Amino acid sequence: QSEHSAITTCAYCGVGCGFKAEMKGNTVVRMVPWKNGKANAGHACVKGRFAWGYARHKDRVTKPMIRKSIRHAWQEVSWDEAIAYAASEFRRIQAKDGKDAIGGITSSRCTNEEVYLVQKLVRAAFGNNNVDTCARVCHSPTGYGMGETFGTSAGTQTFKSVEQSDVVLVMGANPTAAHPVFASRLKKRLRAGAKLIVVDPREIELVSAPHIRAEHHLALKPGTNVAVLTALAHVVVTEGLVDESFVAARCDTKSFDEWRAFVARPENSPETFESVTGVPASEIRGAARLFALGPNSAIYYGLGVSEHAQGSTAVIGICNLAMACGMIGREGVGVNPLRGQNNVQGSCDMGSFPHDLPGYRHISNPEVREEFNAAWGVKLNPEPGLRIPNMFAAALDGTFKGLYCVGEDIVQSDPNTQHVVSALEKMECLVVQDIFLNETAKYAHVLLPGSSFLEKDGTFTNAERRISRVRKVMPPLSGVGDWEATMKLSNALGYPMAYTHPEQIMQEIAALTPSFRGVTYEKIDRLGSVQWPCNETTAEAGTSLMHIDKFVRGKGKFFNTQYVASEEKITRKYPLILTTGRILSQYNVGAQTRRTHNDQWHSEDKLEIHPHDAQERGIGQDDWVGISSRAGQTVLRAVVTERIQPGVVYTTFHFPESGANVITTDNSDWATNCPEYKVTAVQVTPVAQP
Ligand code: SF4
Repeated sequence: QSEHSAITTCAYCGVGCGFKAEMKGNTVVRMVPWKNGKANAGHACVKGRFAWGYARHKDRVTKPMIRKSIRHAWQEVSWDEAIAYAASEFRRIQAKDGKDAIGGITSSRCTNEEVYLVQKLVRAAFGNNNVDTCARVCHSPTGYGMGETFGTSAGTQTFKSVEQSDVVLVMGANPTAAHPVFASRLKKRLRAGAKLIVVDPREIELVSAPHIRAEHHLALKPGTNVAVLTALAHVVVTEGLVDESFVAARCDTKSFDEWRAFVARPENSPETFESVTGVPASEIRGAARLFALGPNSAIYYGLGVSEHAQGSTAVIGICNLAMACGMIGREGVGVNPLRGQNNVQGSCDMGSFPHDLPGYRHISNPEVREEFNAAWGVKLNPEPGLRIPNMFAAALDGTFKGLYCVGEDIVQSDPNTQHVVSALEKMECLVVQDIFLNETAKYAHVLLPGSSFLEKDGTFTNAERRISRVRKVMPPLSGVGDWEATMKLSNALGYPMAYTHPEQIMQEIAALTPSFRGVTYEKIDRLGSVQWPCNETTAEAGTSLMHIDKFVRGKGKFFNTQYVASEEKITRKYPLILTTGRILSQYNVGAQTRRTHNDQWHSEDKLEIHPHDAQERGIGQDDWVGISSRAGQTVLRAVVTERIQPGVVYTTFHFPESGANVITTDNSDWATNCPEYKVTAVQVTPVAQP
């Protein structure tokens, strides 16, 4: 068997580590962290380095399949038959129920090129804007909040920038579990003396890691991020800690003056919010002073900020705080959303939102539409399409009946599983394109085999806006790549696509997206990676640091962040708040990592509960417990630990059998519909082993 290797990019988290995949024939021998990888500089974690066995796992789907209804058995068919069937069903539905009765969902596990093609297919071949991405359920509030305040939805720094931070505020993120290679860089900086502020209901590992001690751990009650951020801002404003010259030069002063008056009100003080947040006012005051005085203070945040009913408000609060303290536009500072999946940034950049074309350009803008109309030979609909939750609601109403779902397991990953399943059961044509027969595929009519990252060429964009190559080291097991499957479907629907390689797709993306104008495969091959914006106005490798002299929107804009309590209230029936997160060895819904040796470290989701709450309920270490919420119930084993505060319980969501999302509810962010995964009122009771 021939031995060969190629440099590629990890398909797990948003750090985007570079690897050399060493192959013997079509088998991976090992993954070696790439020394020149700018995101990882030769480092890797237990996921990227060892958890690639899923690519040749026996569960891989390699043949297209169709069935008339979910009660019928799957039938293996040729690619042509599967595509023809899907296309005829989509056209039948549109003829009967209208053009808007179908749509598509893309995934952050897909390459930029694949996401671009799916949104193009929906817009050009389906003729509507019903396209959304799984970022809807994770970082869509980042898109809204950073877009409104700074003018673009992206991390402002490189990961390396943390090496120049004096103070690091980590909010609603658990980097040692979810972004391990960045966490190593961060810990090195903290061990060298940088100060740490953690805002998290749970004592994450960073709070008390060896030789690291968080100066302030603001262990807030879940759902009170906005109150904490507003209280921090109150201290900055009332104690004269505002960077007045930065604000005067760089920000919209009218909005700043309104915001300053708002946060200065007594009802926004740390003391007033103490009973709401559970955080002592002295801790808030200390943290605010530390952050404002820096001199270089950076914010890194995760889904503990965005996945709330006020997720977008919290992102705005973070941006307000950074601007007021002048922590934008140089190394060591900035606002940095830690993206959970490998290509969350890219899937958002590529226009897979119902309101945005590639490059975050609104579909209602006639000039932008005209550009795409001319390039694609279509007449785009100016009306934004349906978001994922709206698709489910429309399916239940009987007005949405067909869905092309690529690389996303919406049954396991979206909230309120029962609601999602009811919506999918009403669909007349669900086409799932995935590497496994996942939970969503159980409700599909057409299954198109997907390909793993080892079987494809393309690019991923990490949380630093860094665009890196994904290189094919083995042919797709099904014989057809993901981008080719989308192209076949488009052709069968009558909208011709004729790409011969993903590089041609990137050429089209670059031509139509100002921030990608200078991105080419040749340049990425030569430089290792580039960072957007990358065009005629930037350095050849693009832009490592954003908003240096001015914000993308011109002047940075402040918005008032009025705290509103979550509608998810604790009651006597549901007296605890459940919040969720990740563990190091597993990844998201676990479809990949559960099929690797990583399962030996963590093979089930467990429920963390404080000793006080456990004792009150007669729950011991490792006991089975039932968890019930207004949405549903499930059973897990208990971990009794002081890591979690009294009144709050915590679990992960990597295993379908434990079904964390069976209990999460339909509540969502007011601006983006991102689900409120982090706040669910529950009861926990001891149960017999299931
Ligand atoms: Fe790097 Fe993230 Fe992959 Fe780990 S999972 S190797 S940190 S990209």
